[in-house]
Amino acid sequence: MAEALRYQADVAVVGGGLAGLVAACEAAARGKRVLLLDQEGEQNLGGQAFWSLGGLFMVDTPEQRRMRIRDSEALALSDWLGSAGFDGPQDHWPRRVAEAYVAFAAGGMRDWLAGIGMRWFPVVGWAERGGAQAQGHGNSVPRFHVTWGTGPGVLAPFERMARDHAAAGRLRFAFRHRVTAITRAGGRIAGLAGEVLEPTSVARGQKSSRVVVGAFEVEAGAVIVTSGGIGGNFDRVRAAWPVERLGPPPARMVAGVPAHVDGDMIDVAATAGAGLINTGRMWHYCEGIRNWDPIWPEHGIRILPGPSSLWFDALGQRMEPPFLPGFDTLGTLRRILSTGHAHSWFILTQGIIKKEFALSGSEQNPDLSSGRWAEVLKARLGSGGKAPAPVEAFKDKGADFTVAATLEELVAGMNRIGATMGDPPLDAGQLRVQIEARDAQLANPFAKDAQINAIREARHYLGDKLIRTAKPHAILDPAQGPLIGVRLSVLTRKTLGGIHTDLEGAVLDGAGERIEGLFAAGECAGFGGGGYHGYNALEGTFLGGCLFSGRAAGRAAG
Ligand SMILES: Cc1cc2nc3c(=O)[nH]c(=O)nc-3n(C[C@H](O)[C@H](O)[C@H](O)COP(=O)(O)OP(=O)(O)OC[C@H]3O[C@@H](n4cnc5c(N)ncnc54)[C@H](O)[C@@H]3O)c2cc1C
Repeated sequence: MAEALRYQADVAVVGGGLAGLVAACEAAARGKRVLLLDQEGEQNLGGQAFWSLGGLFMVDTPEQRRMRIRDSEALALSDWLGSAGFDGPQDHWPRRVAEAYVAFAAGGMRDWLAGIGMRWFPVVGWAERGGAQAQGHGNSVPRFHVTWGTGPGVLAPFERMARDHAAAGRLRFAFRHRVTAITRAGGRIAGLAGEVLEPTSVARGQKSSRVVVGAFEVEAGAVIVTSGGIGGNFDRVRAAWPVERLGPPPARMVAGVPAHVDGDMIDVAATAGAGLINTGRMWHYCEGIRNWDPIWPEHGIRILPGPSSLWFDALGQRMEPPFLPGFDTLGTLRRILSTGHAHSWFILTQGIIKKEFALSGSEQNPDLSSGRWAEVLKARLGSGGKAPAPVEAFKDKGADFTVAATLEELVAGMNRIGATMGDPPLDAGQLRVQIEARDAQLANPFAKDAQINAIREARHYLGDKLIRTAKPHAILDPAQGPLIGVRLSVLTRKTLGGIHTDLEGAVLDGAGERIEGLFAAGECAGFGGGGYHGYNALEGTFLGGCLFSGRAAGRAAG
């Protein structure tokens, strides 16, 4: 093998996702010579954020006010702390970062991002409603600001700035460079070492080869690790799974992230002395469907459901509140796993799917990703009785969907899907009793069915009424048909714990002391601090955390 390639930089950034781009731009803007390394090819620049919906948690914004949402830093912080449930001494820095992020989200965040060209869809989304108690988990008000252009719209300004810095000689990219070691000399960080991988022409997001064609070494004054989480590696997810809190890890899952989200670099940081905390905290979704047109291995898509689909566990039992669509991600995951199975089912109508099913991902929302109003109106309002085209495509081609005119035919279809997965068969009679009882409550203005009340409550919010919540109707009303059954899998997505850092992104060792010259940001650092979400997320806080912690680390290292 040829001699190792050698680089020198003031700041070396490991990972060209959103956190890495933000950190690299901040350091370069402070006059540092920056080297940005990524194991993938140039076509993958931006990492997961490219695929994201571009939803950002922001507080008390003009978009909220226009939708008559009254929000405040105090309310947001109360929601955050109620969701996080910070509970140990290791949560000192995660909590400090959370407080600082909420202040930022209610303060300068929007102006900063608007100043570099970002804009937001005017209807603010109401994600993760919680649904238990006022001081518990959940967003008291809508706060999910979808960026025009979705994930690519979040990345665009940072990619543009990074390329400008590169053109000016302040920043250098090193793609297909896989870091395998962080080197130390005289008690501080000295740089990096790793493998050069063979060139790749796979499309963005696809799994690339790991054939090694060379080696490299980097001498750097500071290293910032921004290598992402672990969700693309099921073995790691299962090994870290919090059995005592959620139940046994699913035997089968779908991947909500590309294969490069492998977590290996977190071990590399640990070998260099980084403390890892809260590693059992993770954020996986219950509404995963197998992608009929996959990009990465085991590719799953998350349904972002409105409140009306009926949700049944693997044994055919309708799930009790607060385990309703869109309310409590991890509570629902625990409830699903308590059956001894990892899947669940939605039963809904065409009337519901057309208004309430959104799919997470930039490629699943070409209208919002285009950033053009005409596309949005055509897709969301102009489709007659149909859902937006990507949702209809899943209904037609997705392995987890079945459509029928009657409940008995529908359940036969669901059981055909289940048989291919080894699921217990569902009983149409048992489902009919539950659905008829639910439907009977519709005419009752004093309904005791919590889901019917949740639908009515959602429609008090103009945004939900306009584009997210179908008019309440009987599931078994043929005029609302056909009926649709969807088999849902656990979808891996976010890593909530990771490398322990302080507010500046400086990495702390096992004793909580700073490692001079080593920083971490983004998902590998639990989005800041080593887990600023605590146990539960309020959504939009992942991209938000990459922006906030990437900026802090880039400034501190620069
Ligand atoms: C479909 C989808 C939808 C989402 N929607 C939202 C949303 O609406 N709102 C929200 O807040 N969040 C959302 N997220 C989550 C969010 O996009 C991610 O958490 C975030 O982008 C992670 O960014 P990162 O920079 O920390 O890591 P990544 O984007 O994972 O980037 C890490 C980079 O490091 C590189 N790397 C890893 N190891 C090494 C190594 N050893 N050597 C060199 N390079 C290495 C990887 O190749 C990768 O390019 C979504 C995610 C997905 C997948």
